[in-house]
Amino acid sequence: MAEQKKNIILTGDRPTGRLHIGHYVGSLKRRVALQESGKYDEIYVLIADAQALTDNADNPQKIRDNIIEVALDYLSCGLDPEKTTICIQSELPALTELSFYYMNLVTTARLERNPTVKSEIKMRGYDDGGAGIPVGFYTYPISQAADITAFKANCVPVGDDQMPMLEQCREIVHKFNTVYGEVLVEPQIMLNDNETCRRLPGTDGKAKMSKSLGNCIYLSDTKEELHKKIMSMYTDPNHINITDPGQVEGNAVFTYLTAFATDAHFEKYLPDYHNLDEMKEHYRRGGLGDVKCKKFLEKVLNEELEPIRERRAKWAADIPAVYEILKAGTEKARRTTEQTLADVKAAMKINYFEDSALISEWQSRHEA
Ligand code: ATP
Ligand code: MG
Repeated sequence: MAEQKKNIILTGDRPTGRLHIGHYVGSLKRRVALQESGKYDEIYVLIADAQALTDNADNPQKIRDNIIEVALDYLSCGLDPEKTTICIQSELPALTELSFYYMNLVTTARLERNPTVKSEIKMRGYDDGGAGIPVGFYTYPISQAADITAFKANCVPVGDDQMPMLEQCREIVHKFNTVYGEVLVEPQIMLNDNETCRRLPGTDGKAKMSKSLGNCIYLSDTKEELHKKIMSMYTDPNHINITDPGQVEGNAVFTYLTAFATDAHFEKYLPDYHNLDEMKEHYRRGGLGDVKCKKFLEKVLNEELEPIRERRAKWAADIPAVYEILKAGTEKARRTTEQTLADVKAAMKINYFEDSALISEWQSRHEA
């Protein structure tokens, strides 16, 4: 493996919608903490518009609209452009070139085995008498490997749906370095220690909160929107009367509390209990109503979201500044990714005009 002297983070999001609290606990909050830790030499956050187009080819306007929304979400969560480079994927042509070369190192059988792609194909109905699977979508794990390796990232903080992508990326790195020499850096996935945060379910109780499923609480939701969403959230369908015993497993309200509630929140908003375990115990026993649980969750989430809303409003009042941040970040990222592409092409011996040995090699072959 290529020797990595620097600690570099790469992560990102598809601009298919505003970011939600699943993104926040799965990756975004961690990014801010890593940014503030001072332990990383470079941090890149990629707005993956080219990837978003792989399953939204007929709706480029949606992707365009969400570039600024996602940037606003980043800034309002505390990503600091002085410390974190925010950049736009389609403006980095080295990524597309790298993808094209990596495609030769991956078999179709290997792509078919990728469990995340499998479930996303199903979710989008591509297989099910649908329009079929766009080739770009099918190969997006390869382009994601290009994203990660182009920045020589050794650390990728993401949700657990990205585990198969990271595994595939590591395989590509290994294959590339074996065939062409030690150029690429093998990345490590960084998952949240709190397992619930690795894949936050939707408000409908479905396995994953996802923009594509319409079951999200957005970071930019107003207090009123949050209230409405929480009040109609999925709980335990068999918990009809307050006195009925309730189930906390698979109950979205308790899952969100597991992700967000601290003992300090109990002291402040629900002193009937010291902690979540005590509250769960009461719910299981019977006698604790859904509305009380939901009201507590609403307070906890508002405490987390209020500063984010405030910062969002400030940035939203200065969109030209956001635009400049994206432009400057993308320019910096262009230099980084082009350097990696140059290293890759040199290793593959396809850097003809950088390498006049092409002439001497030909000459010595023909003189011999
Ligand atoms: P789409 O439906 O367009 O794929 P998405 O909601 O899955 O959107 P992505 O942009 O694909 O969002 O994911 C961005 C990052 O957020 C990834 O690191 C992913 O693992 C993480 N993430 C997405 N949804 C969740 C979730 N529900 N819980 C935890 N992490 C999540
Ligand atoms: Mg996704």
